[in-house]
Amino acid sequence: MNNIKDSDAHLSREGHEVHAHLKSIFEKMPNDVNLILFTRPEKNDIFNQAARKVIRSISQLAPKITLHEYDINHKEAKGLKPIYTPALFINPDRYNNIRWYGAPIGEETRTLLEALIMFGYGETRISPDSKKILEGINSFRNIKVFVSPTCPYCPQQAVNALKAAYERPDLISLEIIDIQANPELADKYSAQSVPRVYADEKLIALGAQPEELFMLSLEKMEQQTFFIPETDSKEVDADLVIIGGGPAGLTAGIYGARSGLNTVIIEKNILGGQLANTPIVENYPGINQIGGKALVDLLVTHALEYVKIFPGEEALEVISGDVIKVISSRRLFNARSVLFATGAEYRRLDVPGESRLSGHGVSYCSTCDGPLFKGKRALIVGGGDSAVTEALHLDNLGVDVTIVHRRDTLRAQKQLVLNLSTSGIPVIYSTEVNEIRGKDRVEEVELINKNTGVISAFRFDAVFISIGYNPVVALAIKSGIETTPEGYVKHDDHHRTNIPGIYSAGDVEGGYKQIVTAAGHGSEAALSIFEDLVNPYWKKEVL
Ligand code: NAP
Repeated sequence: MNNIKDSDAHLSREGHEVHAHLKSIFEKMPNDVNLILFTRPEKNDIFNQAARKVIRSISQLAPKITLHEYDINHKEAKGLKPIYTPALFINPDRYNNIRWYGAPIGEETRTLLEALIMFGYGETRISPDSKKILEGINSFRNIKVFVSPTCPYCPQQAVNALKAAYERPDLISLEIIDIQANPELADKYSAQSVPRVYADEKLIALGAQPEELFMLSLEKMEQQTFFIPETDSKEVDADLVIIGGGPAGLTAGIYGARSGLNTVIIEKNILGGQLANTPIVENYPGINQIGGKALVDLLVTHALEYVKIFPGEEALEVISGDVIKVISSRRLFNARSVLFATGAEYRRLDVPGESRLSGHGVSYCSTCDGPLFKGKRALIVGGGDSAVTEALHLDNLGVDVTIVHRRDTLRAQKQLVLNLSTSGIPVIYSTEVNEIRGKDRVEEVELINKNTGVISAFRFDAVFISIGYNPVVALAIKSGIETTPEGYVKHDDHHRTNIPGIYSAGDVEGGYKQIVTAAGHGSEAALSIFEDLVNPYWKKEVL
């Protein structure tokens, strides 16, 4: 083995400075770091050579770092079971959940240095938010991070993964895979762009992420695009409290905050509302085509620049007064104004079998459940924009789709009807669903022709119900807000309800129920609220 002086001899002045700096960091490390490197001498490729060279030279910088090198056929490999070479293990006695397949060269040297410091100092320095997310993980995760020595973004993602595996060795294992050293593996995972992260063989992140987003993606097992930290405060004062984080609420948030109002949004379910479950949006101006969830991500990311969002929090009570009290499942909001942007929830058919088989073939969300029925038969119920959009989406996924509609014409937009006829998806007209049958899952659907009264049963594996939405008004009614005979929140042209300081916007008001109209009405409502708070109409009336 070379000694330190020998390894330093060829260095430039900058090289000496870097080595001196690293030595001073490594010297203070309280813990020993034990590196085990497996290589394959008979396959003395550049990656095996490079791994040996770089790891040797770094390990020689500090007595705390020890390096043991073995041939992959050595008996030591029997315990750790490296599959590819070079394979590096760090403190495998405690962390045999972490393995690195590749040479820590180029940009990847940074990852190795970060790892040595993490293990040597015995801390990951993750943020409290990341720690909380990791603590919430309660099942095994095997992470694969694909990296490349030429990728400057890769160390960030590899270090995120190292932090996760270091913090939760009980549940999280990690493989860092260099795509240049392991081209076959890269090919298998189509890892043509890096960094790319899989957890349990599922792609959960593309590109580098901030630490909290990485942890959240790992927890949720799908790529997350925004992170909203939790707040412990029991009481929050705001000029405007928006109930509902769909397009209307998010837009109102942006407009309210930009008018100077201290604005917060409470959302009990998923941000984006129905839009989050919309497969494809083709009529949002300026964007030819975008997935509903992707549009939600854009809206939420934009809104977060201005407002505080309280996700997973339900508004339970709204008590009007000079200060309007909004009592949520978590805290109290003292508001000068409140906007109901509670949207609408899907309508049910109310036929036998629907509730019992819900989640077992009966679905209200093709985006969520569609992929499960690839190659299978699905019936879509409805004749509006949702039914046709979802039928086209499922057809694209390879589901064998049929639509059943209770009238003899569809009510969906002309363009969608045109797309439908091009697709060749069959439509059964003037027919209703009588019953959905099946033991543990949907097996058969009984239909009745409204003109002839003929009843027939057909085999289906899934029933997607897309028959419109009912406005979510229970809290509004409980708060004393008047509704229209159709069940929507009653409001004037300024989106004012019958209670001073309380407003509405979006699908809860009825109307066209388009994303763009919801967003437009959200902006109108926020501007009205701003004007009214400056110059309250209810005070003028009193005078
Ligand atoms: P919708 O327009 O209200 O249509 C609901 C459909 O379900 C109608 O065809 C209706 O039949 C049928 N239906 C209602 N109750 C039924 C029952 N009990 N049994 C059988 N069929 C029943 O609802 P939607 O399609 O969900 O759309 C909601 C709103 O979102 C609309 O304003 C729509 O324009 C909008 N949206 C827009 C887009 C887009 O622009 N791309 C996409 C999705 C939704 P009838 O025709 O007999 O009433």
